[in-house]
Amino acid sequence: MLNGQNSFTTNPKTPVKIKIINDLCISAATCLIKAPETFDLDSDGIAYVLTGDWDDVKSIVEAAMSCPTTAIIVEDLKGNVLWPLQS
Ligand code: SF4
Repeated sequence: MLNGQNSFTTNPKTPVKIKIINDLCISAATCLIKAPETFDLDSDGIAYVLTGDWDDVKSIVEAAMSCPTTAIIVEDLKGNVLWPLQS
């Protein structure tokens, strides 16, 4: 498993946690377009989270929103879910 795949990962400069649910990722790559400093695809075409500086929180949430299968979960550091929206 790479960074952020099936478990949350954090970044000291960005106040959110990110997790990608591998089984839901269909390699659509829209997350990479919205937040290219945060997401990339592994050799199997499954998204993972990059190390180093991430995009800003708005871009990360927009990337998660853009995912057609809701494979990206974004929480704040208190564990409040920012995406997907809870009903
Ligand atoms: S947008 Fe969703 S399905 Fe597409 S690569 Fe990113 S996580 Fe995977």
